[in-house]
Amino acid sequence: MKVSSRCLAIPGSPTLAINAKAKELKAQGLDVVGFGAGEPDFDTPENIRDAAKEALDQGMTRYTPAYGSPELQKAVCGKFLKDNGIVYKPSQIVISNGAKQSLFNSFMALCEEGDEVLIPGPYWVSYPEIVKMAGGVPVPVMGAPENSFKPTAEEIESKVTDRTRAIILTSPNNPNGYVFSKEELTAIGNLAVKHDFYIVADEIYEFLIYDGEKHVSIASICPEFYDRTITINGVSKAYAMTGWRIGYTASPENVAKAMTNYQSHSTSGPNTIAQYAAVRALESPAEERNRMVKEFEKRKNRICEMINAIPGISCVEPKGAFYVMMKVSDLFGKKCADGEVITDCDSFAKLLLAKNLVAVVPGSGFGTGDYVRLSYAISMETIEKGITRIGEFVAGLE
Ligand code: PMP
Ligand code: GLU
Repeated sequence: MKVSSRCLAIPGSPTLAINAKAKELKAQGLDVVGFGAGEPDFDTPENIRDAAKEALDQGMTRYTPAYGSPELQKAVCGKFLKDNGIVYKPSQIVISNGAKQSLFNSFMALCEEGDEVLIPGPYWVSYPEIVKMAGGVPVPVMGAPENSFKPTAEEIESKVTDRTRAIILTSPNNPNGYVFSKEELTAIGNLAVKHDFYIVADEIYEFLIYDGEKHVSIASICPEFYDRTITINGVSKAYAMTGWRIGYTASPENVAKAMTNYQSHSTSGPNTIAQYAAVRALESPAEERNRMVKEFEKRKNRICEMINAIPGISCVEPKGAFYVMMKVSDLFGKKCADGEVITDCDSFAKLLLAKNLVAVVPGSGFGTGDYVRLSYAISMETIEKGITRIGEFVAGLE
């Protein structure tokens, strides 16, 4: 029996696949170093876990409204005011099962069949697939390699057509950690106003930002941008809550209404207990979060230093998130001791895992085939072990 062409056309997520593969090999007793996981290795802070226990003890085990619990909507409004200087009403907030669902809802609400969505590269693997599932057409826009592929407003404008419906801006960026400055955001926002398209601002990594860089929310810049922006955020990354599955959007009211209608027929509101815990996360003092961010910054410094000390590979230091893109294209054409050849980033990742037990994500899914992505959301000790193995793998190539 056949499955639908709609689903056949969608490949599985390569980031989740590499995580699953690394876990499978570990379960077989192999000492795999996994640089695949885009999730903090920290446990969810204790006060947030306590909130979930309280929710259970208080009998919070029933549905919330499809748009989420009013308490969490209110906490999200408080968060936007405190952290981003933006005023939202609860009716503009929709709570979902992770930022991934928030993105999915956004494009379901925005796209007509054939509408184009600009996706600055390198882009998170799920964006093109989400846009396609919503009937849209992904239009990648790559900047210059020497600018970490971050496109300028001019490069973006060259891809605008009369079918352009939206742009996705991810700052800090997954996979290579670049950050858009206020000036760059203003130039891109002006394009959105001029050509009348929406801005979907994925700010899931807003707090994971280093070396004094500042995060700016595009919706905070001026009312013209606010009126056409859907800001995506969630608790997965900044509060080590990937498994709790809580994300949210802030948008114009009519878009929030459309997303709520859609969500009301697909998943209903997200898990009630997790929503209660997310309120605690958003209202917590910043210390615990800052402690995690400091640790990520140390790891970022160390992983970059180690990679750049290995002849044949290199990386550009990221400014945010917890990933680094490692350039491997200078190794294409080289052979392992048993004669197997590295032809591209996919075969690099495959051979590195098979021979030296290190899992990385090939750059092809992010639109940058000369690279592989490494997550440094793992312990310093594991980072050092993994990069040492990569050094040995590279040194053994002919
Ligand atoms: N946006 C980006 C850029 C991401 O890397 C991720 C990673 N999971 C998400 C959104 C989705 O996060 P979640 O669904 O866990 O909230
Ligand atoms: N966003 C993370 C990553 O890029 C988690 C996995 C996923 O949802 O893709 O690795």
